[in-house]
Amino acid sequence: MNDRTISLWQRIKKNLKEELPEASFETWVGNLKLADLQGGKIELTAPSGFIKRGFEERYLEATKEQVKNLSGQEKDVVVTVSADAVEEDSSLRDTFYPPPVSSNDPAREGSRDGEYRRERSGGGQIALNKQYTFGTFVNSKSNQLASAASKAVSESPARAYNPLFIYSKVGLGKTHLLHAIGNHLCNNGSSGDVVYTTSERFAIEMIQAIRQNKTEEFRKRYRSVGAFLLDDVQFLENKEGTQEELFHTFNELYGNDKQIALTSDRPPQELSDLQDRLVSRFRWGLVADIQPPNFETRVAILRKKAMQKGLTVDDQVLELIASRITTNVRALEGALIKAVAHANLAGGKLTMDEIKHFLPDESVEKRELTVELIKEAVGENYGVPPEELEGKSRKKEIARARHIAVYLSRELTDNSFPSLGKKFGGRDHSTVMHSHKKIKNMIEETPLFYEEIKELKEELSTNGH
Ligand code: ADP
Ligand code: MG
Repeated sequence: MNDRTISLWQRIKKNLKEELPEASFETWVGNLKLADLQGGKIELTAPSGFIKRGFEERYLEATKEQVKNLSGQEKDVVVTVSADAVEEDSSLRDTFYPPPVSSNDPAREGSRDGEYRRERSGGGQIALNKQYTFGTFVNSKSNQLASAASKAVSESPARAYNPLFIYSKVGLGKTHLLHAIGNHLCNNGSSGDVVYTTSERFAIEMIQAIRQNKTEEFRKRYRSVGAFLLDDVQFLENKEGTQEELFHTFNELYGNDKQIALTSDRPPQELSDLQDRLVSRFRWGLVADIQPPNFETRVAILRKKAMQKGLTVDDQVLELIASRITTNVRALEGALIKAVAHANLAGGKLTMDEIKHFLPDESVEKRELTVELIKEAVGENYGVPPEELEGKSRKKEIARARHIAVYLSRELTDNSFPSLGKKFGGRDHSTVMHSHKKIKNMIEETPLFYEEIKELKEELSTNGH
């Protein structure tokens, strides 16, 4: 690649920038990198398939046009997805969109010029994603333990919890936290190399090492790291050889007081096709789960992501997305990008109806439990007409059923206390909060009542009420 190629690409970009709305340019063109120029072909890399296709559909022809005008020659323009694109394990990979890095981004703190960087490169490990830090992670009740433990581990490696084992369903922040630990360790001068890799990569590398007669090197490499961050260990199920290798790596690192952190889509005891001795080691330190975020947290995450990407999005839109997408943060982020991309193409604002049109509605598919359904079920169970639950009656049975309905609505739906107040006859939020607390205390104090509520809860969540 020579200077002329680079400057050709720079000039193309400059022209496109002048022609396109700023956000469209940033989204579809700004993220492309010039990779190569071979045989009259311009090769660009995109950080994801989503960007690649988005660019090709919209601006490939315009780009070719520019090439022709600027260089006087027709050249093919080819876009490939960058090899170090963040690995995604769900079908939503295509909606992933790496945020542009802004200079005041907390994610970049301390990582300038690799001052304290000890992250090992080469050897096949995966580079840490600098955007995945504690600063860009939204803490909430649903991830409290996992995020606090990750912080503790990155502040006192091998002393707080070793190993740290985080599990959750897909798209809830495990990989983010693992990278956050890695970034923190790198930026704060931990001793030794910080190695992040996925279990899949670990297995592939091991097989390659065996083929190339390099197993000694492979072993040495992993057994001498300062901190080992291994993502998605469920992938090692039924892979005896790799499990064996991991077992010895684990022992060596653990014995030398090196921090180990692992993630999985299940708790250790449910990794049934993994050697017992590995599973038991996974449980030596701390096991923490992450649950799907509630509505408020989903909105907070969207707000943070929008800010990070320098996007201005109405609260109304954020709330609509958060109410539609309920179980996966990655999907949430994907929907935000889609909304913004659509809005840009539409030359500005989208109406709520237009957004609804392309957002999947998880709440409809799953027939999400609503306050109305809970009122019905509680009413039936306690022989109280549902409308009485909204009314003013202070009769003991009715008041009690009302408290229970409020409690269950708060626990099983995404309604905030103010919104529950409205749904229970326009009560003040402190009144419904009081109801909730009352039932919570009763549950804690009375085992029988606990059973009663538990049954109701289960009935409500299972038979699709
Ligand atoms: P997992 O590894 O559990 O499948 P990831 O860590 O890849 O999930 O998270 C998916 C996406 O959601 C990432 O872009 C991540 O930054 C984002 N994400 C998940 N949880 C949070 C959170 N609590 N705050 C901010 N971003 C989050
Ligand atoms: Mg992951």
